[in-house]
Amino acid sequence: MNYELKNKQTFAGGIHPKSAEKLAKDCKIEPFPVPKQVAVMLSQHIGAICKPLVKKGDDVKIGQKIGETDAFVSAAVHSPVNGKVKDIALQSHVVAGRSKAIIIETDLENNPQKQLCKDKFNENFSAEKYSAEEICNAVNEAGIVGLGGAGFPTRVKLEPNPRLPKKTLIINGCECEPCITGDYRIMLEWTNQMIAGVKLAKKASGCSDVFIGIEDNKPKAIKTIIETLEKSSNNEKIKVVPLETKYPQGGERQLIKAVLGINVPTGGIPPMLGVVVLNVATAAAIAEAVVEKAPLTHRVVTITGKTIAKPANYYVPIGTAVNELLEFAGGVTEKSAKVVLGGPMMGIAIADLTTPVTKTTGAVTVLTKQEIGKAKFACQQTACIRCGRCLEVCPEHLNPTKIAHAVKNDMLDVAEDYYIKACIECGCCSYICPANIEVAGYIKTGKIFLARQK
Ligand code: SF4
Ligand code: SF4
Repeated sequence: MNYELKNKQTFAGGIHPKSAEKLAKDCKIEPFPVPKQVAVMLSQHIGAICKPLVKKGDDVKIGQKIGETDAFVSAAVHSPVNGKVKDIALQSHVVAGRSKAIIIETDLENNPQKQLCKDKFNENFSAEKYSAEEICNAVNEAGIVGLGGAGFPTRVKLEPNPRLPKKTLIINGCECEPCITGDYRIMLEWTNQMIAGVKLAKKASGCSDVFIGIEDNKPKAIKTIIETLEKSSNNEKIKVVPLETKYPQGGERQLIKAVLGINVPTGGIPPMLGVVVLNVATAAAIAEAVVEKAPLTHRVVTITGKTIAKPANYYVPIGTAVNELLEFAGGVTEKSAKVVLGGPMMGIAIADLTTPVTKTTGAVTVLTKQEIGKAKFACQQTACIRCGRCLEVCPEHLNPTKIAHAVKNDMLDVAEDYYIKACIECGCCSYICPANIEVAGYIKTGKIFLARQK
């Protein structure tokens, strides 16, 4: 199978961030040591918050289900360690501020480090022996959610829906956020496991077409996946689609446009077009859940930043505190100005470094003052010069300056008329603005105010 990197497919708008150094791109995925304590958040996904199934003082085992709900849109949570429940209490939560978590003190003498299961898969893996129902049940039991950051329960995406039949499965291997490299390493190191997950997802969803979209700044990943597919029978006819390297190429709507050439309507969702999008890490987790019956207790997290001594990609127990990850990677220095969960474009800054890793934490990025442009925003912001650059780069074809202006002047109804809710919060408008206006910041604030009003 040949692949062509010219005339790559993409979407309209977007940016090419300059400081997009992927410091951990050559760092192999390493299992992270078992921490002394984990805090497993009961809210780690889109949908209903889990109810605890354990109480203070209970002993728990690795992989034991410790929280769930009956709600259709939700996902169970499991213990990543053997240990004792120390408390069920509020913890710093990256989105909610504070939220309930099950805090488990680890039994350090009886806690083997979780090993990677990539070697249990090879090119000959076939999804045929599993029924769609078996796969969906295993995914549900394992508590798998979108590991690309959205956190939508995967079982809901895969399960058949007679009203919205599924036709196309797109696997997101873009990882367009600068600095993050976990998905890249999964594509290189866990190739067979990831492809096994893709085959299982195709079987469960009933999709007839499967594409893996990868940005062309990852030629090694493109080559490795194509060669692996060539060695297998590839009865599923999985196609690899090299895409232009551009941010936010990994946004669900932008990926669908780039791969299929179709637009998801404003206010619409991919299932309306018969499309299911899953991230490469999610596919790997599906394979582990179905074949190994292993729940989602660990995930790959990139630790990166110019002030980090040892940038790395760790396979981390969910619930590990961010400060433990940072210390293990060499600690933060006085030049570190901000710690964000995620990448520099869409990541969320945290003030409390005891914030635990959740299922959606793909990276911990440490930024310097220069990188966050602190001086720039504080001192040099000017009035909008109506250059229109924010309109050019907006991947959702919005008018960011008008929306930001409406929010600033407390005219949320006007912001709604300009489709504020369609903003995907990519930050391209802020990045490009020559007047240094935090356009996306105003828009995010407006969305929060609107949500509170309702
Ligand atoms: S308006 Fe929203 S979607 Fe458009 S560039 Fe700004 S942050 Fe991105
Ligand atoms: S990029 Fe900045 S200066 Fe230019 S129109 Fe948008 S908000 Fe105004």
